[in-house]
Amino acid sequence: EAMEDLRNALATESMDVYFQPLVNTRTRKVAAYETLLRWNRPGHGLVSPAVFISIAEETGIIVPLGDWVIRKAIEEAAQWRDEVTVAINLSPAQMKSPSLVATVVGALAASQLDPSRLEIEIVESVLMDETEQNIRTLHALRELGVKIALDDFGTGYSSLSYLRAFPFDKIKIDRSFMRDLETRGDSLAIIKAVIELGHSLGMSTTAEGIETEEQLEAVRAQGCNEVQGFLFSPPIPGSGVIDLLKAQ
Ligand code: C2E
Ligand code: MG
Ligand code: MG
Repeated sequence: EAMEDLRNALATESMDVYFQPLVNTRTRKVAAYETLLRWNRPGHGLVSPAVFISIAEETGIIVPLGDWVIRKAIEEAAQWRDEVTVAINLSPAQMKSPSLVATVVGALAASQLDPSRLEIEIVESVLMDETEQNIRTLHALRELGVKIALDDFGTGYSSLSYLRAFPFDKIKIDRSFMRDLETRGDSLAIIKAVIELGHSLGMSTTAEGIETEEQLEAVRAQGCNEVQGFLFSPPIPGSGVIDLLKAQ
């Protein structure tokens, strides 16, 4: 039933893109907005992709759905100020789609968005399977001028060899480390090490899931470049982003 509803979701216009700011720790300005998919499922309210992405992947719906997200997010971002970037999450199944690069090129051209204003977020499992082909795809995106970020770093296998497999522009440190920051000393040690690693490799670092001033101060003191979390804003609809940017 969920599968059937999901199949109809695009046709019934019950999918929407929300955006959450990534804030530069030095300038305190919004550097980017991450696109976060929302499904307004009848009778269920707004559903997080954490709940339905796996079904979308198993059924193959992820490809048309992901293409729609790419087009929609880029279209919205073209209305923002020039210096603000849009980040889009790509699932491993989308990475394998032979039409992915063409979809990105088409969406950028249709909305006249400069490729440098697009950032693609992938998770490490993309580097675990179909590695050669996926790395070629990442390079093809990079050659367009698109930036590539490694999402949720520190979970999964977190093999350091992934950081050598592709020259990422950005490492996003998983929010589980922020959550444990106050209670576990090892969290700060890991956050600090990843930030230093990022600096040495020439990769920017973003701390995910910043909810308190204390967490912000802790990662800022370590030299983290960007922060994202409920302290600044939850994900908001596209209309909200436009209002915020006008107000700034
Ligand atoms: P993600 O890419 O790591 O996105 C960050 C998630 O953390 C979002 O959950 C966001 O709402 C949540 N978050 C942000 N700040 C905080 C905070 O301060 N505290 C807490 N507790 N949570 C925070 P969301 O929107 O439910 O998305 C879950 C995951 O679903 C995303 O994790 C991403 O992996 C995936 N996803 C979202 N949109 C898309 C999409 O368009 N395509 C694909 N393939 N995956 C998507
Ligand atoms: Mg992400
Ligand atoms: Mg993440």
